[in-house]
Amino acid sequence: MAGEDPMAAPRRAKPEDDDPNAAARAERLAHYQKRLLEERRLLIRQLGRNAEQFGAGSSESDGDLTNYPFHMADQGTDTMQQETSFLLASQESRTLWRIDDALRRLYRSPETFDVCDNCGQTISFDRLDAIPQTRYCVACKAHAPTR
Ligand SMILES: [Zn+2]
Repeated sequence: MAGEDPMAAPRRAKPEDDDPNAAARAERLAHYQKRLLEERRLLIRQLGRNAEQFGAGSSESDGDLTNYPFHMADQGTDTMQQETSFLLASQESRTLWRIDDALRRLYRSPETFDVCDNCGQTISFDRLDAIPQTRYCVACKAHAPTR
């Protein structure tokens, strides 16, 4: 005797339960959030490395900068290397700011997170997967300043 009537206490259906589109959308948003947090973690680690280079002024961690296209041929210029670190740090700071801003948008108004700021079209999954902090679709990216 199972004294439970499945009809007695109907669970309140969440929108995702009966709308497959909403479920897929929730999944996409969860993925964007994960990507943003990943990018954030990487950036913070990178910023920490740059800060170490400032502080120590040592030449032991030269290898970190070889990933970047403007490779320093002249190894003797410590100041140039510091300026490069500073430049990278400020670019990364800006990106970090955008990522934080994107996370805020995602938490506050998830319904508009993947909507292009310029044309109102949905930004493609591939694009947001690659650059989760972007506010512009591919078509509008060309007109937007460095986003
Ligand atoms: Zn657009």
